[in-house]
Order: sequence, then C-alpha cells, then structure tokens
Amino acid sequence: MAGTGTSPEAVPLYDLRLQPEDVRAVMEVLESGWLALGPRTDEFEAAFASHLGVGHAVAVSSCTAALHLAYLAAGVGPGDEVIVPSLTFAATAAAVIYCGATPIFADILGPHDFGLDPADVERRIAPRTRAVCAVHFAGYPAAVDRLRALCDARGLALIEDAAHAPSADLGGRKLGTWGRAGAFSFFSNKILSCGEGGLLATDDAHVAALARSLRSHGMTSGTSRRQTRETDSYDVVGLGFNYRLDEPRSALLLSRLARLEPEIERRRELTRAYRDKLAGLPHVLVPYDDAGVGRSSCYVMPIVVSDDGRRDAVRRRLRDEHGIQTSILYPAAHEFTAYRDRFGEQRLPHTERVARTEITIPLFAHLDEATQDRVVGALGEVLA
Ligand SMILES: *Cc1c(COP(=O)(O)O)cnc(C)c1O
Repeated sequence: MAGTGTSPEAVPLYDLRLQPEDVRAVMEVLESGWLALGPRTDEFEAAFASHLGVGHAVAVSSCTAALHLAYLAAGVGPGDEVIVPSLTFAATAAAVIYCGATPIFADILGPHDFGLDPADVERRIAPRTRAVCAVHFAGYPAAVDRLRALCDARGLALIEDAAHAPSADLGGRKLGTWGRAGAFSFFSNKILSCGEGGLLATDDAHVAALARSLRSHGMTSGTSRRQTRETDSYDVVGLGFNYRLDEPRSALLLSRLARLEPEIERRRELTRAYRDKLAGLPHVLVPYDDAGVGRSSCYVMPIVVSDDGRRDAVRRRLRDEHGIQTSILYPAAHEFTAYRDRFGEQRLPHTERVARTEITIPLFAHLDEATQDRVVGALGEVLA
C-alpha cells in the first residue's frame, strides 16, 4: 500500500467470520419453525459441558445473566459482599448489585498479570463476605488454585467470570470449572459468539437445578414439555427471570464449537508472534509470559505503555494515521461515575495504573502476519 497514495485498509480490533455450515445450521432451525426451548439448546449444553469436563452446563441469554444466577446460587443476598476485580467489564460487579449485595473491589497482581491478587482478596474478607469472583483476563488463568483454597478455608463460594476463557485451563482443569460456578459469554465480540448469549457451568447439581429454574421464571416445566403433553400445568417456585437462550443461537454455537480448539490454537500462534515482534519495542510492556500463552484462550492482545500521559494520544494516532482500531480493557470499574457515586473513592494502585496505560491491539483468528507487522510498525512509530 505504501506509496500508492491510497490510505491503507483499516485494521479492526476484532473481526468475525462465519462459515457456510454455521449459516446452514441457523437456517435449518428457522425452517423448522421451533425457535426456543428446544433440542439445539439441550445439545449445545451437553457439548459444552463435555468440552469443559463439567457436570452441568446451563445456557442463558448472556454472561451477565449467568453471573447473576451464579451469585444467587452462592446465596448472595441483601447486605452481603462479593469480592471482585475492578479491572473487568462492569457486569462482573453489576450482577452483585442485582442481588442486593455490595461488590468489594480488590486489586490485580500488577502490569505483568491482570488477575486478582489473592493476598489483596484475603485482606478484604469481612463477616458479610459470601463469595469471590475471579476474572480470567484475556483467557489467562487467574490464580484460581490459590483463590479456591482461600475460599474453601473461609467458607466462601468461588465464582469464575470466564467470559474470555471458553477453552483455557490451569493445570489441565478448564477455567470456569474451579469454583461453585463459571460464567461464559457468547456476545458477538467474544471468542465463541452467537450475538447475545451466555452459559453457567457447574459441578453442583443444586446450583444447576436452581439456574435452570430461575432462567425460566422459576417455572417447574417448559413450553416444549407442555406442548408434548408430558405435563399440562406448571407451578412457579421461585422469583425467576427470562434468561433463556434461543434455538437459532444455540445452533450457531454448536456449529462454531466444533472449530473452537483450532481457532484458539491459531490465536496462540498469533499471540506468540506478537510477543516476538513487540519484544524489541521501547516503552512497551507485554503482560504474561510465553508459557501463559499455551494455557490461555488468547481472547485479546493487551499491551501496557510505559507512561500514562501518552496512552490516549498513542491510540488516537494509531487510528487517525494508521487506520488501526484499538480498545482499553478496561477502564477501572471503581472509577466509573455510578460506582464512585454509590461506593465512594477507593484506591487500587495496580488496577489504576493498568487502566491508564493499557492498549488492546487487534487480534482475531484470521489476522495475518503482514497485518501484525503493520500494527507493530505503527506502534513503534507512534511510540518513538
Ligand atoms: C463480555 C463480558 C461480560 C458480559 O458478557 P455478556 O454476555 O455481554 O453479558 C462479563 N464479564 C466480562 C469479563 C466480559 O468480558
């Protein structure tokens, strides 16, 4: 492109490509006329449970819904506290507030590892603490082994926000299966996406039964069973919600799940290539390490610039001069207006530092090496 006088093609942060078999799978559902509460959702749940090696998978309308149900199943209620990271999407904390409880923000380990710091979590445990929620940032495992031991010792439930981590593991055990429940997201920009969708994974039959009931109004039977005359009435046994996933989305997820592992392997290759290319660049720190890449689902590619004064200018120049889209994962949740108004000023030094210096650069499975070179070249230029 250089020298041709035309501006280079834009590089998106994320790009989704569906395959013809995905479209066919959705078309078949549409043609069947059965759009909700049907066999595709059952089939997807079974496939995802087996993919995780977990006893139960309950498909829901979003990861936010899965988090809400996970907290409720952990007994979180009015007056309780749940310890969560602040360097996360706001839903991790918002779902605590849906339960009438208070999110207590804990700090991350630092710019090399954006996972919750177990020591800081331990310091924040109080008499009303019910649960701890760990986020596996970009699919890199948070210290759920240590957090699980801590939660067990203190009688707390560990919940995992595994929105970024549909196929990552720690010591051979899949993320999202370390605690009482794990919450996954199938939102359109996530690794395994269907538009809007989520899932709660658990080995606890009671948690699974509660989530199944509450996702569908707390009703004792669903439409399909009534329609097939297995039962002709129902009771409502809890304050439920409409948190169901529909059939076209389940069909899309089922079709895409078959390619998830090779897609994540490709993301790992691209992440390793980025790490090599970025290694020589001054003023840039790349969090995590090469070994961590093999355990991660590599949802996004975070980098940290050395001083916070210039981060926003770097992002602007990448966009305006090079057509490269970037993002910030994440602005600190405790600094959002709604959280500051509700819970007051708080200090989380590592979180605040990363929130001011992090840049998420483009990563998707069909990214090519020439485009990666363009991104790294542009970064080198604007940081010089
Ligand atoms: C995307 C995301 C969520 C919310 O997922 P939805 O499916 O959009 O509700 C929660 N937590 C994290 C860390 C996320 O990235």
